[in-house]
Amino acid sequence: MTDLIRPSRIDEDLELELSLRPQRLTEFIGQQKVKDNLSVFVEAARQRGEALDHVLLYGPPGLGKTTLAMILSRELDVDIKTTTGPVLERPGDLAGLLTNLMPKDVLFIDEIHRVNNVVEEYLYSAMEDYNISILIDKGPSARSVQIGLPPFTLVGATTRAGLLTSPMRARFGVVLRMDYYEPADLEKIITRSAKILQIPIDQEGAVELAKRSRGTPRIANRLLRRTRDFAQVLGDNKITKDVAQHALNRLEVDERGLDEMDKRILLAIIEKYEGGPVGLNTIAVAVNEESDTIEEMYEPYLIQEGFIKRTPRGRMVTPLAYDHFNLKPVNKGHQNSLF
Ligand code: ADP
Repeated sequence: MTDLIRPSRIDEDLELELSLRPQRLTEFIGQQKVKDNLSVFVEAARQRGEALDHVLLYGPPGLGKTTLAMILSRELDVDIKTTTGPVLERPGDLAGLLTNLMPKDVLFIDEIHRVNNVVEEYLYSAMEDYNISILIDKGPSARSVQIGLPPFTLVGATTRAGLLTSPMRARFGVVLRMDYYEPADLEKIITRSAKILQIPIDQEGAVELAKRSRGTPRIANRLLRRTRDFAQVLGDNKITKDVAQHALNRLEVDERGLDEMDKRILLAIIEKYEGGPVGLNTIAVAVNEESDTIEEMYEPYLIQEGFIKRTPRGRMVTPLAYDHFNLKPVNKGHQNSLF
């Protein structure tokens, strides 16, 4: 697990991350299609004076799903309550949140694919009929009571849309996919963040960081903060291309944006499994990381950049991966003939 990609546990970083969140749709850089659609839906809901339909946002971590949920509540001029799937252990946890909503408020559930089956059943009726039945009392006097809820908007976020059950998916009126960002958009995000954090950066410095941020704003912001440390200690406080390159090399982020874990994954497939195909769980053991983390955080980018292919028999590296490490594929046919 690398600190560069995982949400940092350092409070200072978290605080900075909060200050960097865009507050309005117009401030949100990139994801044009998502923004265009959302602004129409928000405007329509506002004109009708209704709650916005339930929204599902899916895509890899760090692309701005939480940020968009917050922006939605601001654009709709309502409050937002936030939680995450694994925290909702019992129906009562969900009921507590729902019964505290005001009409048209937003309830944001991050990692919604991790909501358990029992809570999910309750969520269905809350989403569809705006009511929830709660069991009160225990033993013979136990009875269920129907509680009406105000119309509300559920915004669900997930990195694993494939793990959502189909009844759950079907209850979202708006389903939007977030894609990795183009370097030009990341450059704008980095320049904006640098301004907020008062870090002098020139355009070439921003381009360099943008190129190596794995298409992900959260990583761009983190690299910016770490590069600032190098600029402060080793440079003259300004992020230039040279400073950025030096910092990124020290942070072991290479010119394609691959970090240490990406490289370990690729090299494990190449060196231990002759380039694959090899199963995800085997890779996970080889690099000593959870298979879920590999599937959610690392693999999507490696696939999108063409380093890995998914095949029915497992993951395979591509010739691009060999080139990246200046290695040559082994000739499996030749090797087999030795035995
Ligand atoms: P997710 O919920 O998808 O994991 P977040 O919404 O937490 O991602 O975003 C991570 C960080 O990236 C936020 O703190 C925010 O500062 C930044 N960010 C995300 N998207 C954008 C964007 N489009 N423009 C500017 N900053 C962004």
